[in-house]
Amino acid sequence: YTQKLQGNNYQFYTPDINVGSSEELELEASLRRALEQKEFQVYYQPIVNLSCGKIIGAEALVRWQHPVRGMVSPAEFIPLAEETGLIVPLGEWVLQTACAQAQRWRDSGFSSFRVSVNLSGRQFSQPELSQRIVQILESVGVHPTTLGLELTESILVENATGAIATLNELKQLGIDIAIDDFGTGYASLSYLKQFPFDTLKIDRSFVSDVTSDAQNQAIMTAVIQLAHNLNLKVTAEGVETEAELAFLSQQQCDAMQGYLFSRPIPAAEMETMLFRGKRLLL
Ligand code: C2E
Ligand code: MG
Ligand code: MG
Ligand code: MG
Repeated sequence: YTQKLQGNNYQFYTPDINVGSSEELELEASLRRALEQKEFQVYYQPIVNLSCGKIIGAEALVRWQHPVRGMVSPAEFIPLAEETGLIVPLGEWVLQTACAQAQRWRDSGFSSFRVSVNLSGRQFSQPELSQRIVQILESVGVHPTTLGLELTESILVENATGAIATLNELKQLGIDIAIDDFGTGYASLSYLKQFPFDTLKIDRSFVSDVTSDAQNQAIMTAVIQLAHNLNLKVTAEGVETEAELAFLSQQQCDAMQGYLFSRPIPAAEMETMLFRGKRLLL
């Protein structure tokens, strides 16, 4: 049987029933069509440096403009794309699109702009992933320091063998390696030691209400310090209030992203924001 627990989004199912779900089959068919018809778009959410208040880069977040259903959330189609393998061509398209865009922004004067792209488990377990990424960077003509890759703890737990070598290759090129949604997965602290991360992204669930929630405050303070002691940069996700921002600045968190500064936006809006020089007042 299929059961969804609201909030946490746990799903329990038996594989054969899952395969038979007609809604999923329909969604899968339209995902395939969507790739051909170019219904996907990359949105960008600015990432802001907390010591100067300036935009240093952006996270690339895929959007699906379905002709009938309208905007479909990645939370809905990424898992299915993952299951069907469509995430591989889709993920490569996102990488290519985001890198090409970031290069245009670099060329127009934002010379250290970096774009962060999410990798799924299926993409990450592809053989010769680092060669594929190098090919994409070369085809677009961008320097590897233009790119950051975000991986969640669960991806690393599932692909531990070989992952360290792959990440080392990518890191050596100058690609920023980030652990995403830190604190929500199953990884132990030893992962921070074993994997060659450059950046730790603290999950939104610890950031929210950080000024009124004593437990979140304790976790945030400790994680920022831990990360710094391990020579990692820290980005806080999902910053929504001035109070959260003040706390993060005071704790010397390195960067933030969140609705307080901007939602994920189309490339043209991102460009306007860059050229207007929008910044955080700290
Ligand atoms: P994520 O990588 O952790 O991305 C951050 C999510 O938090 C985004 O949701 C973003 O819109 C949302 N967010 C940012 N700031 C705030 C805030 O202040 N408040 C709140 N409530 N939310 C905020 P989005 O765009 O719906 O993406 C959801 C997830 O889908 C991503 O989580 C990522 O895991 C996955 N995803 C998105 N694009 C891609 C992609 O191109 N490839 C892969 N493999 N996964 C993707
Ligand atoms: Mg991410
Ligand atoms: Mg995240
Ligand atoms: Mg997340």
